[in-house]
Amino acid sequence: MPPVDQRPVPEKPRPRAGIMDIAPYVGGRSKAEPGQRVIKLSSNESGIGPSPKAIDAYKAAAGDMHRYPDGGATTLRAAIATRFDIPADRIVCGSGSDELIHLLTTAYAAPGDEVLYSEHGFLVYPISAHAAGATPVKAPEKDLRTDVDALLAAVTPATKLVYLANPNNPTGTFIPPAEVARLHAGLPRHVLLVLDAAYAEFVDAEDYEAGFALVEAAENVVMLRTFSKLYGLAALRLGWAYCPEGVADVLNRIRGPFNVSSAAQAAGVASLEDTAFLEEARRHNTTWRAWLTGRLTQLGLEVTPSVTNFLLVRFPDEAGRTAAEADAYLTARGILLRRVAAYGLPAHLRISIGTGEECELAAAAIADFLRGDAS
Ligand SMILES: *Cc1c(COP(=O)(O)O)cnc(C)c1O
Repeated sequence: MPPVDQRPVPEKPRPRAGIMDIAPYVGGRSKAEPGQRVIKLSSNESGIGPSPKAIDAYKAAAGDMHRYPDGGATTLRAAIATRFDIPADRIVCGSGSDELIHLLTTAYAAPGDEVLYSEHGFLVYPISAHAAGATPVKAPEKDLRTDVDALLAAVTPATKLVYLANPNNPTGTFIPPAEVARLHAGLPRHVLLVLDAAYAEFVDAEDYEAGFALVEAAENVVMLRTFSKLYGLAALRLGWAYCPEGVADVLNRIRGPFNVSSAAQAAGVASLEDTAFLEEARRHNTTWRAWLTGRLTQLGLEVTPSVTNFLLVRFPDEAGRTAAEADAYLTARGILLRRVAAYGLPAHLRISIGTGEECELAAAAIADFLRGDAS
């Protein structure tokens, strides 16, 4: 006879260890006072929205909503493969790259394992680690940039995954390919390096690579991309991973069989094809990113040079001018920025590049705030 389990029986269902350690993710706010115009610059969404062709494709998919989607996202993967000149069978699509982060962590980290990321890295990484019962570990940054030496120093025998957002959110900074290669070279071969390139399309720096070459050269590197930012499809939840064969096989075993909706697949294909629109979106971002950086700097604020579609802005410590007070002031006027205290940056706010008018109105309101204008 098996031994009798003497442990007390819980009164109600209990989640596995780690789940209740998760501080629930708080998204960028989207509501202001009733009747007030809202300027939402809190979630790094596209300043100019989706391609009109993506909207048409989405609408055209409506009549088929009683059908299950193509579980293999065949047409979409083929379109991504053509666009980036990579093999379609090593692309796995997800319901946002968030889903792919969760799937990767669940597949490769177990209780007792460590998931390593950089100090001001994306909060979904530690959330996914806790959800898997694993331990999230942060390595310090230097001047709001990923520090490869600090990451390598934090690797232990328990490390199973390293997440690198490049460029990073919420700092807006990036590290060059040589640094990424040095990080990869310093990792044991059983550690999976995940290059989260959610903002790759916005980068115009010469010394940047999203990660294609490393994925092709190694069995332990995955690159994540999203349609939520430049493509303007955040509501549809669409991301993809470029993987080594073994990792694609693992993701395809554990993902939901119909994890990407038909409408998202159709809009994704249409977006990829509308290269003129994507170019316009990129140009818009580059122009207004430079304008807003200049304007906020003129106002005496410290702006971290950004290669993305948002700026990290340091507010003064002096009472009446702090980030928390600026946020309250702007919120009362319907201008929603993102507090980043949860990222270890209590004196900063993050502001997404919106329309030109939204950038101007936000800058004017920040100027009023700094002037001590209470009206
Ligand atoms: C916005 C963002 C993503 C994309 O998330 P989706 O789930 O694809 O919308 C991924 N990583 C980082 C760092 C981000 O900021």
